[in-house]
Amino acid sequence: MRISDGFGRGRPLISFEFFPPKAEAGFDSLFRAIAELKKLSPAYVSVTWGAGGSTRRKTVELTARIQDEIGITAMAHLSCVGSTQDELAATLAKLSQLGIENVLALGGDPPPGYTPPPGGLEYANQLVELVRARFDFCVGAACYPEKHPRAPSAERDLAMLAQKVRAGVDFLITQLFFDNADYFAFVARARAAGITQPIVPGIMPIVSGASIRRMTALCGARIPSELGRALDAAGDDDDATLEIGVEWATAQCRELLARGAPGIHFYTLNRSPATRRIHQSLF
Ligand code: FAD
Repeated sequence: MRISDGFGRGRPLISFEFFPPKAEAGFDSLFRAIAELKKLSPAYVSVTWGAGGSTRRKTVELTARIQDEIGITAMAHLSCVGSTQDELAATLAKLSQLGIENVLALGGDPPPGYTPPPGGLEYANQLVELVRARFDFCVGAACYPEKHPRAPSAERDLAMLAQKVRAGVDFLITQLFFDNADYFAFVARARAAGITQPIVPGIMPIVSGASIRRMTALCGARIPSELGRALDAAGDDDDATLEIGVEWATAQCRELLARGAPGIHFYTLNRSPATRRIHQSLF
């Protein structure tokens, strides 16, 4: 299924994101998590693209296995970092051969001192152009309600996003955020900038205080003070943190859907319990 065909049919598109485990042993538990989440009838799942060489092959394999063996529409993420255009095109050709119809086209995070390989690409809009010129995928892309951390301003970031969308993006998924006001304000600005594509909120249920603080420091997402105080009070108690995360994300999703979000993309961190609980209280 092409993901874009599912929007606007009266049901929000619920999707789950996974990453390829580093060790082979991790695949069994991942497949169990995916099988659990399949019971929730997601519209699709997506598989991230690792910056390292070996996990790249795993993205292609895992995406195809999820689609073939578990029977859920799967989308592969693909980033520009570290690949030539020929390598990117070869990956896209392989995905297409394997029956994958959906790709999330990303610029990626270059390591310090990085320059693209000769013939490589720097920004996601260039990858979208490559996909459109040579393949027939449904194309998703990333966006940032609180601004991309490397963008000099929110205005510049939005202008770059509009350029990327014009290159042929079918739908957008946001970076994680914890204050819905940021999402609604961003959608309004995107619409004013002429972006008409569905903008799916990306939601991450918090499962550990330390890891969410690390992650938000990297991606620039703000933890609202009320949530921050609750996480501080929970300290190292992972059970208490999970409860806070589930409650916060459930309230976020409830409001997002009530106010017309076209779907919810869950950053599952390869675990099913928190996402399952949120889903159960929503539907
Ligand atoms: P771009 O759209 O290229 O934007 C990157 C920055 O460059 C922005 O600041 C933008 O304003 C600016 N910019 C864009 N185009 C231009 C231009 N033409 N000229 C000048 N400036 C420009 N990372 C992974 O490595 N693997 C994954 O699987 C992965 N999945 C993700 C899924 C989602 C839903 C999201 C939100 C992020 C994901 N990321 C992933 C992280 C992502 O790669 C980083 O956030 C990265 O820094 C930016 O990627 P992008 O596609 O948004 O890049």
